[in-house]
Amino acid sequence: MKEQLLWLYRQVTRSQRYRLLDTLRYVGQVPVGILFYHRVADTHSNPWTLSRSDFSRQLDWLQKYFDIVDLEEAQRRVRMAHCEQPTVSITFDDGYSENADFAIPELVQRKLPATYFVSTDFVRTGASFPHDLEAGTALAPNTIAQLREFAEQGIEIGAHTRTHADLGQVQDVGRIVDEILGSVHDLEDWLEGTVRYFAFPFGQPQNMTQAAVDVVARAGLAGFCSAYGAWNWPNSMGFHLRRIHADPKLEKLKNWLTYDSRKLCEQVELPFVEPRVDRRAKRQPNNSEHCFQTLVG
Ligand SMILES: [Zn+2]
Repeated sequence: MKEQLLWLYRQVTRSQRYRLLDTLRYVGQVPVGILFYHRVADTHSNPWTLSRSDFSRQLDWLQKYFDIVDLEEAQRRVRMAHCEQPTVSITFDDGYSENADFAIPELVQRKLPATYFVSTDFVRTGASFPHDLEAGTALAPNTIAQLREFAEQGIEIGAHTRTHADLGQVQDVGRIVDEILGSVHDLEDWLEGTVRYFAFPFGQPQNMTQAAVDVVARAGLAGFCSAYGAWNWPNSMGFHLRRIHADPKLEKLKNWLTYDSRKLCEQVELPFVEPRVDRRAKRQPNNSEHCFQTLVG
């Protein structure tokens, strides 16, 4: 029923949406959408799982109407003064083993880029996420071998803390550094490459702090993702990358991505000031130990 209501709402506002997109294109201010998924599987359905067929249908629709770009290109378009091309970037959070069965092969087969954010303690131990245990299903996290295979296939691996911590609740700088840079360091160790992006677990404004954002910036990461549902406007600093939840079904995604005027303005107040970062600065891989020292001590 909810899907039908959303469909109806989208039909009623259809011409308004077309006009809005025309105007945004004309003035070169088409915002960039960055999507986040968690798990694609046909078993253990929950609010953070999308079925295989629903995922394929979403990709079909996205490929028809958008440039699908990697996070670096999305960031470049956000930083440009003008963007005329409807653009989305695909990301995943947490690191579920079953994504190796369908979601990632499907993206690779379609030659679509994606960024895959992983909480590394679960990969190391094989333990299930607390939110899955609370929901009564012990789902398996990715293995190191799976992440290596994803990376070899061109999927960018990003950091998502070590323990899936709510960093909005962590005051201790040492712990913040361990969660953020520890996960970066784990991944760089396993993948022998540079990790460039970080995504805050939960990703709502209350799950992010100035201290944590500063750790991300001072570590020389290229940017970080939130998850509270917002667009990225051109001519922005582009260090903070706002994301839109894509686990719900296609109609909800269509409603978001066809430029619903109610969703175009940021509705929330952020608990941090976006830091100015030197975009030319590049991290060297495996220098996190050094970062630990400089950030903590
Ligand atoms: Zn997460």
